[in-house]
Amino acid sequence: MLKLEGVSKHFGGIKAVNRVDCAIEEGGITAVIGPNGAGKTTLFNAISGIYPPTEGSIRFGDEGFDITGVPAHRIARMGISRTFQTTRLFANLTVLDNVKIGFHPRTRAGFMGAILPLLAAREEREIRLAGLKCLDFVGLADEACKPAGGLAYGRQRLVEIARALAGSPRLLLLDEPAAGMNPSESERLMDLIRKIRFSDVTVALIEHDMRVVMGVSDYVYVLDHGEKICEGAPAEVGLDPRVIEAYLGCGS
Ligand code: ATP
Repeated sequence: MLKLEGVSKHFGGIKAVNRVDCAIEEGGITAVIGPNGAGKTTLFNAISGIYPPTEGSIRFGDEGFDITGVPAHRIARMGISRTFQTTRLFANLTVLDNVKIGFHPRTRAGFMGAILPLLAAREEREIRLAGLKCLDFVGLADEACKPAGGLAYGRQRLVEIARALAGSPRLLLLDEPAAGMNPSESERLMDLIRKIRFSDVTVALIEHDMRVVMGVSDYVYVLDHGEKICEGAPAEVGLDPRVIEAYLGCGS
């Protein structure tokens, strides 16, 4: 689904990501873990087109289409959606309106809709229905008409996932989806992540909650100081002395 070769992102002298190779398998759930400042979000930012990598290549899909340095709005249209580490909802808009924003890369009426109101009205109805389906998928259909800012934090995170799904992604990048969730919310999140995968969306997630990482992922990449230090099945990676050292500052 996605192949990164020698991807780096440097900010002046800071090597936030340095020569990382990794592959995200289609239909799987891949986790990217590592201590604070390891370069995980920077890696997702490079993939999703927030900023171009300093070097390396990023290829997407069966055709291996080169998406290196392609801007974020085009990446979204190609089928890569993401959520962010901190919630980015419009607090005063309803939950449904926040989700409807996620359809933007795929709307068609555009300028024609402005001069042909019927076209715009039909598209608006379709988007509303599709938005409600996304909310139902994440278990929030009952909250559709509430202001997003009034929801508990864990539920706001689910609204963001619904919004990302609205773009009909082939690949969904989740940046710390369990942050701020209590144990029962993160349990439900794990079920949701599995359900997303079974709906034919490949998932990659950054996560600090090891219960979530171990519970859902098929494969794990570990970054430290911008470099990939280890990769493998979750159980193997958890026992690797390089990983233990990166997290705890001491070998096994
Ligand atoms: P965390 O788990 O704390 O979110 P992370 O693994 O996601 O950390 P990044 O946010 O990718 O780490 O940051 C990696 C390094 O790059 C850090 O030293 C950070 O300060 C630096 N960095 C990230 N973005 C920028 C930027 N826009 N300009 C300068 N330095 C940056």
